[in-house]
Amino acid sequence: MPDYQIYIDGQFCDAEGGKTADSINPATEEPWARVARASRKDTQRAIAAARRAFDDGPWPRMSQADRAKILNQIADGLEARSQEIAAVETHDSGGTIRKTSGDMMMGAAQLRYFAEMAPKLPLWEEIQVPQFPAQSKNYLQREPIGVCGQIIPWNFPLMMAVWKIGPALSAGNTLVLKPASDTPCSALELAKIIDQTDLPKGVVNVVHGSGAECGEELCTSPLVDKVALTGSTEVGRRVQQLASGTIKKVTLELGGKSANIILDDADLEMAVDGSLFGCFFHQGQACESGTRLFVPDKLHDEIVGRLVERTKPLTVGDPMDFASCQGPLISARQRETVLGYIKKGVDEGAKVAIGGKRPEHLSKGYYVEPTIFVDVKNSMTVAQEEIFGPVLCVIRYKTIDDAIRMANDSIYGLGGAVWSRDKEKATVVAKQMRTGTVWINEYHLLSVAAPFGGYKQSGIGREFGLEGILEYTEVKHVHVDQVDNRAGKFWYGALFGA
Ligand code: NAP
Ligand code: MG
Repeated sequence: MPDYQIYIDGQFCDAEGGKTADSINPATEEPWARVARASRKDTQRAIAAARRAFDDGPWPRMSQADRAKILNQIADGLEARSQEIAAVETHDSGGTIRKTSGDMMMGAAQLRYFAEMAPKLPLWEEIQVPQFPAQSKNYLQREPIGVCGQIIPWNFPLMMAVWKIGPALSAGNTLVLKPASDTPCSALELAKIIDQTDLPKGVVNVVHGSGAECGEELCTSPLVDKVALTGSTEVGRRVQQLASGTIKKVTLELGGKSANIILDDADLEMAVDGSLFGCFFHQGQACESGTRLFVPDKLHDEIVGRLVERTKPLTVGDPMDFASCQGPLISARQRETVLGYIKKGVDEGAKVAIGGKRPEHLSKGYYVEPTIFVDVKNSMTVAQEEIFGPVLCVIRYKTIDDAIRMANDSIYGLGGAVWSRDKEKATVVAKQMRTGTVWINEYHLLSVAAPFGGYKQSGIGREFGLEGILEYTEVKHVHVDQVDNRAGKFWYGALFGA
């Protein structure tokens, strides 16, 4: 069984007292790796290292071009080992090898974007201000915030690490990354890659520990300047509360219950398959999944018929098999949560059109069949709460305004889509959706160059794009006064009289 250590101050090391935890393979329900399990004290050591690297180290003072070079070295390392780390992540998380292989290549490309952006960041720019009463030149300086605590979930372990590390490094910060307890291994593989680059020691630290201990230390430590979480809305609330003690900068990427609207002129072949991809990709364990599907009343039966037919060939099975469309969920607990929601849906009057249980042909592993609910009302629990499993809720609508109103009737606002042959009409609908990303005739296709994040209780701040990198900067206004004599100063009359 492979052993993993935590990474602090440029060194791989054991956790305090030699504590370890097994990582479970969700497909076999067996331990597959042993991982050092960090305590609060280990986390404090990591924070102290990041603090030293920021306050005294070369990294925050390095040129943007040099930072870009190092980010590209990390991307090179990830590309070179992508197949191997994809397998690690499939063992760790149950994500199909199809998905994890793609994630590695995408992660490397995203790192290259953060490298490319580094020298382009507006770190010093002149701004225009009204020249009355004083004459002045005005500049904005953007600087790294400092030490960042970064807490990530288990659904896209490597990509989530890249989304956090990439922008933080691009802007010159140092950091402590805490992977989810269930999926530490690919982030620790990334640490091995980072260790081989020219990144100064202490800039990136990776500690695997519990949310309660390690995560909360990152939120409360006075040595941490910013905390960034991707996780559930519930943990987001807790993180925001804890961070308030030291007024840390906070960005949160949280849950979703995204609306996917098929208009009556959509190409149904494409819209149906796209909607299944929007919901069932990675067993529905994607935060911006299109879990509420709004269909026009008059096309309801036809669309449901097609959805069911196209779900039948989606093979559920061994995630290491390239033929598997769906693997297991992350844990037994998550499987029970999803099955509990399916029961709740039935109790509240929704009907299962296909799926709804554990697959009969798999005796081991945390699998759940792709499940489609019909006769769903937008007010039902299954349409309001995030299930985070392969459960699609089909909801009828009469008019487009009706669909938009229901789409927006949610505490969340993360993703969403509109399907139509008329892209202008679809754009009018997209503009009215209160959500961070809307795809037209597409789903899940995030671009690293476009901001991603949530409205409402789906989060605070953005990742990706220039906006995402600037979330890792402080802004300073520098006023250079152009009035060179005392009597001409705006304050002279105010304080001393004319
Ligand atoms: P989670 O339970 O909220 O956990 C996320 C991370 O927070 C984990 O590393 C967890 O550590 C840590 N954590 C737990 N309690 C904490 C605390 N009290 N203080 C500080 N950190 C704490 O979420 P999850 O179940 O892993 O992931 C699924 C959720 O993430 C879903 O709601 C999904 O929508 C959301 N998500 C959002 C996005 C997005 O971009 N908006 C992307 C992916 C996922 P432990 O693992 O040790 O518990
Ligand atoms: Mg695991």
